Amino acid sequence: MTDEEIEKYINVGKIAKKIRDCLKEYNFFNKGYEEICDYIEDLILKFGGRPAFPVNLSVDHIAAHDTALPNDGRKVDGKLLKVDFGIHIDGYIVDNAFTVVFDREYHELQRASEDALRAAIDIIKPDIEVWKIGDIIENTIKDNGFFPIYNLSGHQIDRYKLHAGISIPNYNNNEKTRIKEGMVIAIEPFATDGKGFVRDNGDSGIMRLEKWKSIRLSSVRLFISKIEKRYNGLPFAKRWLFKDFQKEVQRGLVNLCMSFGVLYAYPRLVEVAGGVVSQAETTIIVYDPPIVLV
Ligand code: MN
Ligand code: MN
Repeated sequence: MTDEEIEKYINVGKIAKKIRDCLKEYNFFNKGYEEICDYIEDLILKFGGRPAFPVNLSVDHIAAHDTALPNDGRKVDGKLLKVDFGIHIDGYIVDNAFTVVFDREYHELQRASEDALRAAIDIIKPDIEVWKIGDIIENTIKDNGFFPIYNLSGHQIDRYKLHAGISIPNYNNNEKTRIKEGMVIAIEPFATDGKGFVRDNGDSGIMRLEKWKSIRLSSVRLFISKIEKRYNGLPFAKRWLFKDFQKEVQRGLVNLCMSFGVLYAYPRLVEVAGGVVSQAETTIIVYDPPIVLV
């Protein structure tokens, strides 16, 4: 990685930190999903970045992949909330998340994922095998009395690619792959008082484009090329389409694209036993010592 690229990542990380500072005093409880998502996504733009994916607001047993739907009437209510957001400038992506606790009985669960993230950062260095990162995450969470989510993981990040190449497990999966110097990785421990697994459950309002080379309908081709250009091939929100492509939405092109399978809606991910889930996430560049971006 060049010094110039490192500089770009550091700048995006600074925006994420500024936004987390703004959110420290923010009252999430009983506020509308749309209002919160709009607020955070507007802050990202105000500070000179672009959202790398829709702001995720995941309450309690929903571990990840929930965002405001178009005209979403829901309000945040529960024991805790995970706020997961990504920012990019020119495709240099920083991904991060934190947990807000509403019911103080869940501070320990919040601490478990935060401790695990810190412990993982402490051992990161070039050429480390990924199982070692998973192992320390798993052990730290278990020492706190909880389970990690076994089927969710951190990930490598590349330019304009949120999930690239290597996965960073949240348990010892025996994977001997080594993390290379200069790699960008997101580490994201999830802790739960449930069983430690998530399953798909319903539409999240987070979407991506699938391969669409075989589509011949020109109105559809034009629409999806506009989507690709607008969101740079990164995930986007259904509610963004309602704002950015009103005409196409009215003409039914969103539903048509979904039925063709070129527009894919991610499912919400819920804990299988209904356990409450906490999350902590940051993005780092692997050096010795690592550059922690948020
Ligand atoms: Mn994230
Ligand atoms: Mn991530």
